[in-house]
Amino acid sequence: MSIEVKNIRKNFGDFQALQDLSLKVESGELLALLGPSGSGKTTLLRIVAGLDSVDQGQVLFEEQDAQHQKARERGVGFVFQHYALFRNMTVFDNIAFGLKVQPRRIRPTKAKIRQKVLELLNLVQLEWLADRYPWQLSGGQRQRIALARALAVRPKVLLLDEPFGSLDAQVRKELRLWLRRFHDEFHITTLFVTHDQEEALEVADRIVVMNKGRIEQVGTPEDVYHNPANPFVLSFLGNVNLFHCRLAEGKAFIGDSALDVPGLVLDQPKTAKLYVRPNQFKISRGPGKGDALKAMVEYVNPAGIVVKVNLKTENGERIYVEISHDEFNHLRLMKSQQVYVSLKDVTYSEYV
Ligand code: ADP
Ligand code: MG
Repeated sequence: MSIEVKNIRKNFGDFQALQDLSLKVESGELLALLGPSGSGKTTLLRIVAGLDSVDQGQVLFEEQDAQHQKARERGVGFVFQHYALFRNMTVFDNIAFGLKVQPRRIRPTKAKIRQKVLELLNLVQLEWLADRYPWQLSGGQRQRIALARALAVRPKVLLLDEPFGSLDAQVRKELRLWLRRFHDEFHITTLFVTHDQEEALEVADRIVVMNKGRIEQVGTPEDVYHNPANPFVLSFLGNVNLFHCRLAEGKAFIGDSALDVPGLVLDQPKTAKLYVRPNQFKISRGPGKGDALKAMVEYVNPAGIVVKVNLKTENGERIYVEISHDEFNHLRLMKSQQVYVSLKDVTYSEYV
């Protein structure tokens, strides 16, 4: 089931929550809507679900105008961040609920419902919890049960609004991998809302980066991370260092210092902003052949997969660098040490 929204606009009073937004979700795709709080993600999801109307524009399900279809008719399943399972019902009854309230002509028999619920419990790997009540579950278990409940009515589309938002980091990571495996098996068209870039980068086939009711960029995780369309996407998707400089003769001039910029070719000098990801620097103990920035190590943190280094340049600028443990051991970096920083690459440049 493909979903398309065309030029949709949504106002709350004078406030434009969505501004002429268009997007297509391909059938079987897992698309992440990523953006800061207030960027319009939930609003867009509710419109796709048929829970809210638009002030302008169209919503298409499988190329068909869905305007007159109510939420139930659209065949969507939901999971929200704080999805309250029915407190007074067991896990089993929670999952069975959607099936039990179906119109009689399509409602499965009691035995079929039971079989179906057990299958779903098996799918979310929580068979042993069938007789428990929601308050007897952990947060992660509750969200998996919420997903099983959403799946019970065989939705053609899954809408997940920060489903792991309130869980511990470790549980979030496990569930996000689980969701990816689940999607690879069943290929239900899924819109997954998150404000966590790492989550979006890890789970999604494609990412839609939203900001202030508009789309900033749509692309694969690799695309949006390595080829950001603008500084907003760049900063939202991870740490980045910004240098205000003047570019000339293959170098960036920052204050009184010069820095070689690999691959830089310009007709004439330019004033620029250079954006550099933390892994795009090389740290050396001595001056090399080219121009590098002289800096002092302010802080080193080797805990983690990469070593995090905070540097302060002669000009007083701070640079955040990530290096491998191999490089770290080789350099034997310590606080207050003098080093030289050069560029391996530039992520994004903007001429001003
Ligand atoms: P997100 O999910 O990205 O955090 P939302 O879609 O919830 O953002 O909200 C987008 C903007 O619209 C926010 O500024 C929010 O305050 C506003 N908004 C959302 N729903 C309503 C509403 N029912 N009434 C008024 N303003 C709303
Ligand atoms: Mg939201």
